Amino acid sequence: MKLNLKNNFTKELPADQNLENSRRQVYEAVYSFVNPKKTKAPKILHVSPEMASELGISEKDFQSDYFRDIFTGNAVYPKTKPYAMCYAGHQFGNWAGQLGDGRAINLFEIEHQNKNWKVQLKGAGETPYSRTADGLAVLRSSIREYLCSEAMYHLGVPTTRALSLSLTGDEVLRDMLYDGNSAFEKGAIVSRIAPSFLRFGNFEVFAAKNDVKNLRILTDYTIKHHYAHLGKPSKKTYIQFFKEVAERTLTMIMHWQRVGFVHGVMNTDNMSILGLTIDYGPYGWLEGFDFGWTPNTTDRQFKRYRYGNQPSIGLWNLYQLANALYPLIEDAKPFEEILNNYKKSYGEQSLLMMKNKLGLFTFDERDMYLIQDLEKNLELVENDMTIFFRLLSNFSKAEDGIEILKKSCYENEISDEIKNIWLKWFNTYLVRLSKELLTHQERKIKMDAANPKYVLRNYMAQLAIDAANEEDYSLIDELFQMLKKPYLEQPKYEKWFAKRPEWARHKVGCSMLSCSS
Ligand code: AMP
Ligand code: MG
Repeated sequence: MKLNLKNNFTKELPADQNLENSRRQVYEAVYSFVNPKKTKAPKILHVSPEMASELGISEKDFQSDYFRDIFTGNAVYPKTKPYAMCYAGHQFGNWAGQLGDGRAINLFEIEHQNKNWKVQLKGAGETPYSRTADGLAVLRSSIREYLCSEAMYHLGVPTTRALSLSLTGDEVLRDMLYDGNSAFEKGAIVSRIAPSFLRFGNFEVFAAKNDVKNLRILTDYTIKHHYAHLGKPSKKTYIQFFKEVAERTLTMIMHWQRVGFVHGVMNTDNMSILGLTIDYGPYGWLEGFDFGWTPNTTDRQFKRYRYGNQPSIGLWNLYQLANALYPLIEDAKPFEEILNNYKKSYGEQSLLMMKNKLGLFTFDERDMYLIQDLEKNLELVENDMTIFFRLLSNFSKAEDGIEILKKSCYENEISDEIKNIWLKWFNTYLVRLSKELLTHQERKIKMDAANPKYVLRNYMAQLAIDAANEEDYSLIDELFQMLKKPYLEQPKYEKWFAKRPEWARHKVGCSMLSCSS
């Protein structure tokens, strides 16, 4: 396996001088060198061939024992020096101080077809940033990250990627529900890939430690390698940089809203500086359309990271990044402008996104109200978001609407009162559609490209996990294959285009997930 390596990151950014793998505060460094931990019986369970080919890794390569050893941390690729990154963050609205890659170890940088990728193992052992935890990951959360990050990529949502999923052969102790019932689970490792894993928290950590020198070094590096079109670093470029991070963050969140993805832990240490979805933990997919829903039981009390709150949290997080970058500019005004613009832009983009979902491509000033009414209606009785929007592209008369409702609604009977509210909406929608210029068929194609047919429903990931715990990995592959074409009709997978089964409604792992992973 011959990889085309680079080491811009470690060459250009300051390393921690202390080489000991001990837990501590780290100063004046972006990362610490640390090697992954050897594992007892490494075994690759799945590889993403699309990702492998992006990295210049052939099928023969990824089937080799050498690949297995490198991507489970059991061998270090020649002339590379793995490292963990230092970052801080605001968790659930509170400043949490230094966090860092507690269980992620970056292996190397690959350059292939003019793209630069960072390769990272999640769950490969302790680092100086492991704090009180073990640096490991369990199979259930690794399957969830592996499947979902590739699924998001194929959905067209900006995201980090995954290359491989493997078992370590070691056991990991976890208290899954944080209720005092710890148990051993299978250890696993996901190799994750991204152009950069830098987070808002990497900038916050220097600002918090009053280290403007390294804050500048890191910002200049980020601009040089990831925002090169902005030109040479200066106060002006820093502002432009922040502006673009804000735009990318909003774009990413608008995609989440479109497909019904709830991240679950939008702490600033989980916000990518490239606007990628990062750190798949207790995320979930909306089944019933509900602005108030979050899958994360750790956030049960305030539901800070609920579906409907994601755009505002994006803004809140950007405020923290603005504070962190402030010492480079020392003028609050440009930041304020950008942050104010986020709100405006959010309104516009959200309207556009919903119009696309509804197949409305011409202008009508009343569209905003049509959408607001729809969102209210969708919450009247539990209504499956994915099914509802997907079927909407077949709609051509008011009675179709009631059929769609029957197929997407979780209750057997809808009261006449609610049916009438819906009929009224469908009639307004029908009139509105008549003003569109596209034919029904043309509109359907566009709508189907905005409304996925297949998403990684919470119970689907759980079924794959349950089977994998019994050493049956076939469902991981089946879901992986299906989720590569989320917008296409795939008759052989029709059974996955269905409402969540009742058994999954309150099942742990399906609707209830904690940060334990
Ligand atoms: P998360 O909520 O998963 O984004 O994690 C928040 C912080 O806790 C990050 O700094 C992680 O690296 C760290 N962390 C989470 N789980 C572990 C673990 N098992 N061992 C070490 N650090 C962890
Ligand atoms: Mg994290």
